[in-house]
Amino acid sequence: MENKIAVLSRDVANQIAAGEVVERPASILKELLENAIDAGADDLGVDLEQGGCKSIRVVDNGRGIAADEIGLAFQRHATSKIQSVDDIFHIVTYGFRGEALPSVASVARVEMTSRSRGALSGCRIVLDGGRIESQQDIGCPEGTVVKVTHIFDHVPARKKFLKSVSAEQAACMEMLVRIAMSQPAVRLIVTSNGREILRVPHTTDISERLALILGEDTSSHMIRIEGLKGEIRLHGLITRPDYSRANAKGYYFFINGRFVKDALISHAVMTGYRRVIAEKRYPVLVFFIEVPPEDVDVNVHPAKTEVRFRNPRDIYDCVVETIVAKLAVVPESERASYDAHREQTEVSYHQRVEEALKRYTLVTGGSRPTYAHRDERRPEPPLMGLWRDPVSRPEAESLPGGLPEQSLRFSTLAYLGQVGATYLIFSGGDKLVVMDQHAAHERILFEKIRSAAQKHAGFRQALLVPEVLSLSPAEYEQFIQSRDILADAGIDMEPFGGHSLVLKTVPGPLANLSPKQFLPDLVGEVLAGGKTASTLALKERLFAVMACKGAVKANHTLASEEVKALCAEMDNTPFNATCPHGRPVYLIYHQTDLEKLFKRT
Ligand code: ADP
Ligand code: MG
Repeated sequence: MENKIAVLSRDVANQIAAGEVVERPASILKELLENAIDAGADDLGVDLEQGGCKSIRVVDNGRGIAADEIGLAFQRHATSKIQSVDDIFHIVTYGFRGEALPSVASVARVEMTSRSRGALSGCRIVLDGGRIESQQDIGCPEGTVVKVTHIFDHVPARKKFLKSVSAEQAACMEMLVRIAMSQPAVRLIVTSNGREILRVPHTTDISERLALILGEDTSSHMIRIEGLKGEIRLHGLITRPDYSRANAKGYYFFINGRFVKDALISHAVMTGYRRVIAEKRYPVLVFFIEVPPEDVDVNVHPAKTEVRFRNPRDIYDCVVETIVAKLAVVPESERASYDAHREQTEVSYHQRVEEALKRYTLVTGGSRPTYAHRDERRPEPPLMGLWRDPVSRPEAESLPGGLPEQSLRFSTLAYLGQVGATYLIFSGGDKLVVMDQHAAHERILFEKIRSAAQKHAGFRQALLVPEVLSLSPAEYEQFIQSRDILADAGIDMEPFGGHSLVLKTVPGPLANLSPKQFLPDLVGEVLAGGKTASTLALKERLFAVMACKGAVKANHTLASEEVKALCAEMDNTPFNATCPHGRPVYLIYHQTDLEKLFKRT
């Protein structure tokens, strides 16, 4: 092939550019919603078919588009929102790049009907694969209706990347949630395949809106916060430390009304919560951060979910200080030791800030975000023993079958005692065995639940008092979609009006546990599960959550009878070398290891 240089055709250029803005149906929905709000609409209707994969329709009551401009709206870099580069630094609208409509039109079929305020009639334009198919005047109400169909029909390579309908629907719901949170004054009604799935009325009270969007279970644990640092203003709601989730998916940050993902703010949140929340647990929070528009650059990425701050350190401090001020209620009895402690932590606090800032600069330096939770603690590799390579066997599913050390029978070991109310110490001939009681019990319960589920015998146990779960509309949809998997995992749920579900059964091995203890984490797992295709994986993860909640905790003194029972169970449990999350359950030090430690060899 001859490599001649040639300028790409307009169609190809548009399709390539579309890749940055239009990744999946949810990104189309986002652009349409933002356009509607930029047009001053306060009443939005959204209809999705097949999670947005088949069609997306957005109806607004905004100011509309004049008939002689409607074709222009679909030209690249055509926008009514800015005129010069300087305007980018005073942006008050979501859009300004003039890219969304041409991008969407290049990868789908778009029908737009619009009538500007006061105009005598409206107009209608149809585009397919970027070409105008028809354009005419038409009678219609004021406002704009955009319908997008045949998404990615012209770009099969992209179509292949679409996930399941339920995953795409979940992504659309997430977009709707973000818009609904940031625009409490906008009424929003959403249907999916003709069924209404969300209705939020106008309001001026953000808590009222959050209760509708996040569900009662979550919002009832939330408190208002407010903070000020220089010209930065932070307000919003956060969960009290007694409520937490297993992942950080409940973080919603809005900078001047725009939803952003930001590693720096996430880090600041964890710093603020560090003293009051357990390790690897995360709050739910909604932050509205107002900064002078000239202090934030929103033009970092076409999808605009990343921003760059002029003074990242002030943002960081504002977030940490606001959270700490709200949560750090120190009981009088601990005041003295707290103050003594503070001097030390002050230093490390500043170190952490420095570290976060360094990382942040890296992140926004142009490459993709590479932020990873540095605090994530890998288990210290033992000197010897079963846990040889934490990297190659992180998943319970990928473990080789069978018991790793057949000769090790826990019931024959001599129990020596407990260390830190967490680790059980045994001796057995020439071995010293250290067992993590929580990890061990977790694996035992996990295998029990899994085998009970396979046999179905006595698996499902009806709850005496069914538990009602008040979910957010988005969570509710996920649950309905995942209902079969949940039922398979022993959890029978039925719709209970609104966005509530009633929990009727739990897996037998967990019958003595209050559902309250594991439901929040189960919710988190189901929501995360929407993104993975394999149902088996989700089911196993549900078992893992339940096993973890049902297992005896660390920092819990065990009687020797209990240790004995645990050992007997361990002997009958396959894969007992690791917990369901892949952490080691026990370490073995052979006499030769001890000899090395004592420098005898
Ligand atoms: P941008 O939003 O970045 O300006 P878009 O391609 O999304 O670019 O839209 C192009 C233009 O079309 C907008 O600047 C706006 O004038 C007009 N427009 C798009 N959608 C609507 C709508 N729902 N109501 C009124 N005007 C709209
Ligand atoms: Mg736009």
